[in-house]
Amino acid sequence: MSEMVKAVVAGGDNRRSFDCGRDATFAQDDSSVEGEEQDSTPFDKLREECGVMAVYGHPEAARMTYWGLYALQHRGQESAGIAAADGSDVTDIKGMGLVSEIFTDEVLAKLPGHMAIGHTRYSTTGDSALLNAQPISVESTKGLIAIAHNGNLVNLGNSRTRLERDGAVFQTTSDTEIIVQLIAHSRCNTLVDCIADSLAHVDGAFSIVMMTRNRIFAARDPHGFRPLSMGRIAGVNGAPDTFVFASETCAFDLLHAKYERDVEPGELVMVSEDGVTSRRFAREHVPPASCIFEHVYFARPDSRIFGRWVQQSREEMGRQLARESGVAADLVVPVPDSGVTAALGYAAESGIPFNFGLIRNHYVGRTFIQPEQRTRDFGVRMKLNPVRNLLEGKRVILVDDSIIRGTTSRKIVRMVRAAGAKEVHMRISCPPTISPCFYGVDTPSKKDLIAANKSVAEICKFIEADSLAYLSLVGLTHSCTQGEPAHGMSPASYCTACYTGVYPTAWVDVEDILPATVGA
Ligand code: SF4
Repeated sequence: MSEMVKAVVAGGDNRRSFDCGRDATFAQDDSSVEGEEQDSTPFDKLREECGVMAVYGHPEAARMTYWGLYALQHRGQESAGIAAADGSDVTDIKGMGLVSEIFTDEVLAKLPGHMAIGHTRYSTTGDSALLNAQPISVESTKGLIAIAHNGNLVNLGNSRTRLERDGAVFQTTSDTEIIVQLIAHSRCNTLVDCIADSLAHVDGAFSIVMMTRNRIFAARDPHGFRPLSMGRIAGVNGAPDTFVFASETCAFDLLHAKYERDVEPGELVMVSEDGVTSRRFAREHVPPASCIFEHVYFARPDSRIFGRWVQQSREEMGRQLARESGVAADLVVPVPDSGVTAALGYAAESGIPFNFGLIRNHYVGRTFIQPEQRTRDFGVRMKLNPVRNLLEGKRVILVDDSIIRGTTSRKIVRMVRAAGAKEVHMRISCPPTISPCFYGVDTPSKKDLIAANKSVAEICKFIEADSLAYLSLVGLTHSCTQGEPAHGMSPASYCTACYTGVYPTAWVDVEDILPATVGA
């Protein structure tokens, strides 16, 4: 086992897998509870912060952006916005809620122009008010600039203070506005130089799209934490091509756009009536650090990110997990939806039949009315229901993509067992999450991450599984690089900080990185 793999195994237990043994006692009663965690946030998952989209050169740019955001809805459900430009004016409309709730035909008609940028958001910095919804538009000495940002800056304190000292008045508490204010305060001569200069001064994760009255810009931070791809729609009857940018390529499919390439880490792309130009803004080469959790969980399996199909990585995670920690069983069951592709890989590799032993209700809103008398695991049971006739009397392997606090996993294990499963073995398609993310993913602090505070054996006991195993770090990076060409992604191309505690940038919250107290 490499040093890296040792590092991800939490607590005093140096194994990634653990058999709880048959003497463990499992609570199965379903009565009303006192002291049980409440179900107001029933799904214990890390949350992606944002999806961005841009369209240049289409008469219905806002509508195309809307469709793109629709496909990116999984990247943020808190607020959404679109800014459109027609060469002289920029109009933006933002709202709280889902893309389809905010943008009706009537609303889209108020966004004229051949260029648009859009954003769907789950906040990671700043509060969650409409004020911080994006795109953010700022009128500056360089003209009006609208920006939409996916990621998280990590040297906020310095930049904000310096800008305020220079007279900047911030409209929002979002870190994204810092980029616009830096552009506005840059002393460079041309707008594109101001943008490049500003991007070179911020640290952290940013995949951004920007718009002025007549140009679109797209850029990725030098580490390339978050994905950002460029596509093209061929013009008809001699019309010029339309250029599109999106966090994930699944947004291109609805527009019939063809994937062209990724925006490279440290690259600034500009699209104007003169065509597409590109330049590097990063002053020096920094090691790549693309977020591996995009492949584990965030991105859709039908997307190609960092030049690689998510489905390919995720299925291999399941296969590798089966090779690393196989167990005798009758049925492989995914925790839907995110566990499905890895579970298919696990079943294919192990030869154990796959079936949907848990059904997800896709129509449960973000909030729902609880029963007056609080009952155990109500929130999870609203979203997931076991298929009793598949599970009864079976030794079940449950495949999921992560355990964050452990509370949801425990509820699911209980549910499967209560439906008649003889054994429940939990398999996780990534290593234990031991450190928070500072690059745009909403992670609980270290004290709330179960793997930062308990050994695998203790987690197994906590979630009441018969056995528990995680994919090794080496197995994960193998899964996300298998079959790559020589110039493609390598294990060193990825950020794996939430599994190792080794961060690719210096500016992080030291308090949160300090080792947690075991049992805290
Ligand atoms: S810390 Fe984890 S979630 Fe955050 S960018 Fe790195 S791999 Fe992704």
